[in-house]
Amino acid sequence: MKVDYLIVGAGFTGATLAERLASAGKRVLVVERRDHIGGNAYDEMDSHGVLVHRYGPHIFHTNSQRVWDYLSRFTEWRPYYHRVRAVVEGKEIPLPFSLASLRALFSPRLADRLEEKLIAQYGYGARVPILKLRETQDPDLRFLADYVYRNVFEGYTLKQWGLRPEELSPTVTARVPILVSYDTRYFQDTYQAMPKEGYTALFRRMLSHPGIKVLLGADWKEVEGEVRFDRLIFTGPIDEFFGYLHGALPYRSLRFHMETLRLPFFQSVAQVNYPNEHAYTRITEFKRLTGQDYLPHTTVAFEYSEAYEPGRNEPYYPVPKDENEARYRKYLEEARKLKSVYFAGRLGDYRYYNMDQAVARALKLFEELTHA
Ligand SMILES: Cc1cc2nc3c(=O)[nH]c(=O)nc-3n(C[C@H](O)[C@H](O)[C@H](O)COP(=O)(O)OP(=O)(O)OC[C@H]3O[C@@H](n4cnc5c(N)ncnc54)[C@H](O)[C@@H]3O)c2cc1C
Repeated sequence: MKVDYLIVGAGFTGATLAERLASAGKRVLVVERRDHIGGNAYDEMDSHGVLVHRYGPHIFHTNSQRVWDYLSRFTEWRPYYHRVRAVVEGKEIPLPFSLASLRALFSPRLADRLEEKLIAQYGYGARVPILKLRETQDPDLRFLADYVYRNVFEGYTLKQWGLRPEELSPTVTARVPILVSYDTRYFQDTYQAMPKEGYTALFRRMLSHPGIKVLLGADWKEVEGEVRFDRLIFTGPIDEFFGYLHGALPYRSLRFHMETLRLPFFQSVAQVNYPNEHAYTRITEFKRLTGQDYLPHTTVAFEYSEAYEPGRNEPYYPVPKDENEARYRKYLEEARKLKSVYFAGRLGDYRYYNMDQAVARALKLFEELTHA
């Protein structure tokens, strides 16, 4: 068999590249080692008829009109604004931390004072990174910064990464904002929605082009010698590709415990975080994401963060530490020595990408490949 492109991985990166290249007249073979398409965005009906996300909740949001328009060719959308709450000192508060969270936690007098000061100092609508708030001289705002850091951020970080915030790259801490507003949507992006029939249906349409063949349940190593190809696009782990030549790139993994309950709804919003209590980090209620409100029962996922052990669990999140970035750069040097092999995606670029970023990256690579 001979193809123009061999693409390893059928997630957003691989599927976008396969669709674009096939539409440009190329013959493409996609090899995926899991027994399904969709990568980590894969969804499926569980045995109770609830559409669940096997690898964790996926909410689509983007500011990129280009990505939105592109994906809209393969799906209709269900409008959805993600809402997240956290249990702090026994109270449920909206996240990201906002003026509404102040109201949920503190006495009206203290909340009024903090709100006034936040608006006076930063302006209504501002997003203030928590580290910036910690630099303030105002004792009330210092109290607030320390409170949020201790009760919302620190515990969650410890559970999520198994590391203290100081051990992570400062960019992670810098990103956590306090919102000086009453907008309780978790994302503020222009486009926010869920694919009407789910992600797997979207992927099926992307990969249905006659120029694309998909081989499931096969590691690319198994087909390497069998298939001839002009170019290889690799969306698997870059360190694995090079036989861990410079050591393994660390990832954090997750474990999901799903339960179906004989209740119409289990919790107030799709996602409730537990920064300080319980071993799990969060609980997701799928029907709040997918709109299956008509079902008399509900499926929830308890999410546990754990160390990644190759072969036992999945590499989910690249661990954002400077030394890991340095190791990745060594692999990038190796990649540059190869001709006709391209790395992309969450595992190929060793980057945390949201789905829209993975698609944008793939569209850019497609342009580079076809204009080179
Ligand atoms: C728990 C969790 C929640 C998330 N929630 C959101 C969210 O709410 N919103 C959002 O925008 N993004 C979210 N994301 C990010 C989203 O999952 C990624 O943006 C997306 O999966 C990236 O797609 P990808 O194709 O680069 O990688 P993947 O989806 O990981 O696809 C790579 C594929 O390559 C395959 N592969 C690897 N090695 C080989 C090999 N040797 N041979 C054959 N196949 C191989 C893998 O099996 C995999 O299917 C979340 C991620 C996680 C982990």
